[in-house]
Amino acid sequence: MTSREQRIADFIEAFRVEPGSKVKLGRDFDPAFRGTIKSKKEGRRLLAGGIELLAEYQSRLYAQHTHGVLVVLQALDAGGKDGTIRHVMTGVNPQGVAVHGFKVPSSAELDHDYLWRYGLQLPRRGEIGIFNRSHYEEVLVVRVHPELLERQNLPGNARGHGLWKRRFHEINEWERTLSRNGFKIVKLFLNLSKEEQRTRFLRRIDLPDHNWKFSSADVREREYWDDYQRAFSKMLSNTSTEWAPWYVIPADRKWYARIASGAVIAHALMELDPRFPTIDSDARQALLEIKKTLEAQSPKGAAADPFLAG
Ligand code: AMP
Ligand code: MG
Repeated sequence: MTSREQRIADFIEAFRVEPGSKVKLGRDFDPAFRGTIKSKKEGRRLLAGGIELLAEYQSRLYAQHTHGVLVVLQALDAGGKDGTIRHVMTGVNPQGVAVHGFKVPSSAELDHDYLWRYGLQLPRRGEIGIFNRSHYEEVLVVRVHPELLERQNLPGNARGHGLWKRRFHEINEWERTLSRNGFKIVKLFLNLSKEEQRTRFLRRIDLPDHNWKFSSADVREREYWDDYQRAFSKMLSNTSTEWAPWYVIPADRKWYARIASGAVIAHALMELDPRFPTIDSDARQALLEIKKTLEAQSPKGAAADPFLAG
């Protein structure tokens, strides 16, 4: 590991939810945490370095075409999911990235099992897929609003007592299957404080260009704040696994959340360590034969191999 890679590994350790540990959000994670990074300026520099690293790894991931990466983003409203995606993914090849947002399920989606629509949007090998909201809504919003569960038309043996434990287990197994088959899952929870959410809602009202982002439904959802905190705590306690751990990202400062998220994603790619494919000596020999043919086609006055001559 290079020293830069070691620094990234050390930096993200504070955000990782130890598999099997019992999380209580308010007690265990501070939305305003910023560790040893002193200023926004220092933060910007770190983010730029992280983005560069990410772009480099992504091109190798794409070329190697063996692994895929799924980034799962969860947060409360105004948590900063959109901005995080925008900032962290600048600099990567758009051809290798696919972002999917999940909204209230349609009736066609409700006609399938609850994991179906998420499975349809998984990244391919070589790709980084980003879920802006994800299958975790099935143990968050659906848990906070039981009428949403009602709409899922579950048979008797799939409802009632033990439902959430079972879903946690099913999600863990689903993710284990994916990770064993080459798909690394990076789970980020942007942890926002109630007061910072209030400020961000007001900002959306105060700035006319941001009015489109304001939704009165979000303000109604805020009344369920404590229910969400409990649901998030249970999700983190039950679905942080060795193969797909959760990272709780301090989100009260947008710039910090972006650096931290970028670092976690870069770390996942470092662990995969994708390499550009190499070819064996027979294939190399064949290339050299083709090279001779191309060189023989050089027009008068042109170098046999303009690339090498240039
Ligand atoms: P936004 O991310 O602001 O576009 O809002 C998407 C909305 O869809 C949020 O209010 C989510 O709670 C809701 N949503 C996402 N997934 C589900 C789901 N599986 N069941 C019910 N509501 C969902
Ligand atoms: Mg919203």
